[in-house]
Amino acid sequence: MPPREKIPVGILGATGAVGQRFARLLAGHPWFEVTAVAASERSAGRRYVDACRWVIPGDPPADIADKVVQPLEPNLPVRILFSALPTAVAREIEPAFAEAGHLLCSNASAYRNVPDVPLLIPEINGDHVALVDHQRAQRGWPGLIVTSPNCTVTGPAMALKPLHQAFGLRKVFMSSMQATSGAGYPGVSSLDILDNVVPYIPGEEEKFQQELRKLLGVFVGDRITRTDITVSAHANRVPVLDGHTVSLSVGFDSAPSPEDAMAVLRDYRPVTAGLPSSPSKLIFVRTEQDRPQPRRDRDAAGGMAVSVGRIRPCPILDLRMITVVHNTLRGAASGAVLNAELLVSAGYL
Ligand code: NAP
Repeated sequence: MPPREKIPVGILGATGAVGQRFARLLAGHPWFEVTAVAASERSAGRRYVDACRWVIPGDPPADIADKVVQPLEPNLPVRILFSALPTAVAREIEPAFAEAGHLLCSNASAYRNVPDVPLLIPEINGDHVALVDHQRAQRGWPGLIVTSPNCTVTGPAMALKPLHQAFGLRKVFMSSMQATSGAGYPGVSSLDILDNVVPYIPGEEEKFQQELRKLLGVFVGDRITRTDITVSAHANRVPVLDGHTVSLSVGFDSAPSPEDAMAVLRDYRPVTAGLPSSPSKLIFVRTEQDRPQPRRDRDAAGGMAVSVGRIRPCPILDLRMITVVHNTLRGAASGAVLNAELLVSAGYL
């Protein structure tokens, strides 16, 4: 049921690369209205438009531009908060917000792998949201924390879920080509990334393995049983602005043909239809020889869909494929807004 009145929400880390995406997305959102923005001491007390180094096209939304940035204290007059804080800051402060009664939809990695915290892509594991009942009972919080996955693993997880259901996923070899916006602002120095590829992103490869197993896991009772798959990953930064590309080789219990895999991907129907941010189509199967590409495919379904292409046999595992997903939309802000919509529709507000 859509809410009768708009729900006031806040953004923590509102001035950063992901925070700006939240600001843009939430301006005009049918359910939510931004009434609070918070960031570091550097920004607190300044107008949002002055504190922000705006890095996405257009200007800051008019209804947020003049808001005064608040310091990061768990007494903001809103229940739903979106967190785009650096991980170290999130680790320290997010539980205090949940303890103070806030429903925190976090993009940071700090709590993604904590057993009683859901790691959500609503279209593939929306049932995991009920883990917050256990979280609240265990911690005595009137609020709660749900998390969005790493922006790079998001695309492969969306594409692999239907294939896992149909054929039983066992092994994943993945090599990423990650956009510069994934490193936040100011991110990687132009002298390091232009005309170059950087074959190391601290902590990323470990996140792929841990998060993919939790995302594809099964929720029963009060826990997520992680899926038993082996993941071997390479993380690379490339001079693309937005859109993470991942090359994958995957092995299954029962190997499908490329045609069978494509049919399963095309037929996948997520159960979140009706939420304002859920795309009408989650997976775009590309059959051109040279797609998907980040510049051409990152905005599929408004940046909420994954594009999958070059599905072909693999001489080492079973199938090879490429995924592209928008890292600051589906992989960050839009994914977290969809999580908040799921919480509201499931009655957690
Ligand atoms: P960013 O551009 O560096 O922005 C960080 C934000 O946090 C800024 O608003 C900054 O405020 C605020 N902040 C920094 N230190 C703070 C402190 N001590 N107290 C309060 N606020 C503080 O980073 P980002 O790329 O937006 O990433 C934000 C989070 O989302 C990270 O955890 C990141 O891992 C995650 N994430 C990012 C992406 C992506 O594609 N970029 C995707 C998925 C997840 P000031 O402006 O005042 O310094």
